[in-house]
Amino acid sequence: MDLRERAIQAAKERQERMKRNERVAAEEFAEKAKKEFMESFGETEFDIKPVSENTAEIVADGLKFTAKKIQVEYAEYVHFYLWVRCANCGKWIRAYCENIADVGELLQKEQKCDECKYGSAIPPAEESDAERVTRMLREILEIVGK
Ligand SMILES: [Zn+2]
Repeated sequence: MDLRERAIQAAKERQERMKRNERVAAEEFAEKAKKEFMESFGETEFDIKPVSENTAEIVADGLKFTAKKIQVEYAEYVHFYLWVRCANCGKWIRAYCENIADVGELLQKEQKCDECKYGSAIPPAEESDAERVTRMLREILEIVGK
């Protein structure tokens, strides 16, 4: 093989190695998040999906959570966010929750996204059909992409 071929081969190998490392790191984080989720919420029946080395997705009893790795100095924490819909515009938002009572409160009380809370969003009634479709697509992409 000439230099060009060897270079491309080396790059491919490195990319594969990195992908493998990322996958391993994601799985490790998911494992950690799984344990913490059980401890924090007392739930054992749930699905967890590794997303990245610092993100995992959890679905428990029809509720969707995101687990995030938070690094402070040398300590590492797992933070959980429950996905809820904005009561005003219906957009999915993530709300931090530490324990089961937090989750209960998020489910009990109406939650609002920042735009609705701070008043820059268009109320649903004033949306045109095209705007509504665009917003829905954006929400779907947000959900799928996270
Ligand atoms: Zn909203």
